[in-house]
Amino acid sequence: MKIMVARIPEGGSYLEGDDPGTIMELEGIPSIRAVGDVRYELHIQQVSEELMVHGMLLLDLDLKCARCTQFFSTTVADSDFVRAYPVSKDTESVDITIDMREDLLLHISAFPVCGEGCKGLCAQCGADLNKRSCACEKQERPNPWSGLDSLNL
Ligand SMILES: [Zn+2]
Ligand SMILES: [Zn+2]
Repeated sequence: MKIMVARIPEGGSYLEGDDPGTIMELEGIPSIRAVGDVRYELHIQQVSEELMVHGMLLLDLDLKCARCTQFFSTTVADSDFVRAYPVSKDTESVDITIDMREDLLLHISAFPVCGEGCKGLCAQCGADLNKRSCACEKQERPNPWSGLDSLNL
């Protein structure tokens, strides 16, 4: 997103819109699919030699659940995008695309989970436990604390 500095009125301005998801450069990452537009809602104000930008960035995308490996749709929200750019009276525009990308990347979880209740895959047979149970699930795992019961305190 390029901010045309000359068009920012003295009292500041509010910019709302979207950039194509391709600015995120997420193509080819196997755990990410279907990247939507980058939406922005930004307050922009010039304070002497600085252009202050703050507001919210939103990105819809499909991420692969780290537990069950199914893709799910989610929205990454960065509600606290804050940057300041040096400007002079000759500055025509300021390109904030790289900073938008950087901030949103920080907000994409490295361990995304499709839902709190996701049961994940069976570690033994690989069955998706959200869809079906498997035989191995019924095997009682030895309780690491059970030995405490036999202690006579
Ligand atoms: Zn899941
Ligand atoms: Zn299993």
